[in-house]
Amino acid sequence: MKDANFLKEHNARSIWHPMAHPADSQANPPDIIVEGEGAQIIDVDGNRLIDAVGGLWNVNLGYSCAPVKQAIAAQLDRLPFYSIFRGTTNDAIIELGEMLRAFFAPDGLTRAFFTSGGSDSVEIALRLARQYHKVRGQGGRVKYLSLKKGYHGTHTLGASVNGNANFRTQYEPLMPGCFHIPAPYPYRNPFNETDPQKLAQLCLAALEDEIAFQGAETIAAFIMEPILGAGGVIPPHPSFMPGVRELCDRHGILLIADEVITAFGRSGDWTGSRHWGVQPDLMTTAKAITNGYFPFGAVMIGGAVAEVFEADTTGKAAIGSGYTYSGHPVGAAAAIACLKETERLNVKDNAAARGAQLFEGVQALMAKHEIVGDVRGGHGLMTALELVSDRATKTGIDKATIGAVHRATYESGVMVRVSGPNIILSPPLILSETEAAKIIDALDAGLSAVA
Ligand code: PMP
Repeated sequence: MKDANFLKEHNARSIWHPMAHPADSQANPPDIIVEGEGAQIIDVDGNRLIDAVGGLWNVNLGYSCAPVKQAIAAQLDRLPFYSIFRGTTNDAIIELGEMLRAFFAPDGLTRAFFTSGGSDSVEIALRLARQYHKVRGQGGRVKYLSLKKGYHGTHTLGASVNGNANFRTQYEPLMPGCFHIPAPYPYRNPFNETDPQKLAQLCLAALEDEIAFQGAETIAAFIMEPILGAGGVIPPHPSFMPGVRELCDRHGILLIADEVITAFGRSGDWTGSRHWGVQPDLMTTAKAITNGYFPFGAVMIGGAVAEVFEADTTGKAAIGSGYTYSGHPVGAAAAIACLKETERLNVKDNAAARGAQLFEGVQALMAKHEIVGDVRGGHGLMTALELVSDRATKTGIDKATIGAVHRATYESGVMVRVSGPNIILSPPLILSETEAAKIIDALDAGLSAVA
């Protein structure tokens, strides 16, 4: 391998990084990761770190998952590609379809449409929602509602329903017909309501008001993450998502659960929606479906939606969407092996146990460090610390300070993710108790460095 300086220099002159300023890789060269093992990674300088980011919330089974690697290699050997566009299919995707159908049966989801990742899945789900209404003769239902602080990927439909200005303003004007309601985020919300249950009711009232304002007959779908992820790990009060489900049912609006992060165990259950006892009409998945080893995703389709499409005799239900890599056999082989490992190791239970440990740990850090304004978690391995420069006024943290916390935590042997004012912890679900303890210790050192 080339040495660290060579790699850094060539990175800066040849690569633009997602979610970064192009000039930044010169000023702040990114960390170069060269190896992974279990829940840990090794950088180009030989530093070993616990990966408390879990890749990008996707490497649930860690970096050494041999059955997945072997399945990918075997599939590459036998059939590296064949499309499943109308007229052909491949055996790997059929096996996966059956497995997903069984896995998501408790969520009422009976069909899969395959994609290359989360943004693709969101795009497909939003398209299918409009098409569903057209098939039913309600072609006026074209609008989408979503939550502020939601993240739904980077395609233009997804960006249009995203609830974070950082991912929108550069690309405006986005899709017309997309409207946002306040998120049930007790630490900061326009109602100044800190009680999660009361806040959930206020947000539901805002949703109901928006439905009435737009006209229910113009709305195709409401899309939400069952636990807001990239927006800073915000679990809603248990009454929120059932309330959304009820409003959607009452007004003929489809509910899309964006479970790109939460499906497959990360939240301590197999899906985020199950925490709240809700069956969505459509569910987006990606990330952990292949543990990050292959770009892949699936939109799961609920029984009632599937029936409408499949009963159509007018031709309106013909799906005019598909990616070259929809149904990629290597992705399918990776996903089959992942699903088997995910269930064999019952990773959701370890996610719940280690998640509880991390949540307790960050609560202790908040008691100790004035800079921590809020901590959130309690649902599997999704935990966040929101940093502030003044706890009393909740004034935001500056980039340099949170960057310094990140660096000092890194130097203490743990990779964490900074997202706006939040430090996000989303380690592999195979994390050990010792590793979880080390994450808290390293964060303690990181926070102490800026005290
Ligand atoms: N939806 C959610 C909830 C996500 O968290 C993400 C990615 N973090 C996406 C969609 C987009 O997925 P991808 O980056 O794989 O396109």
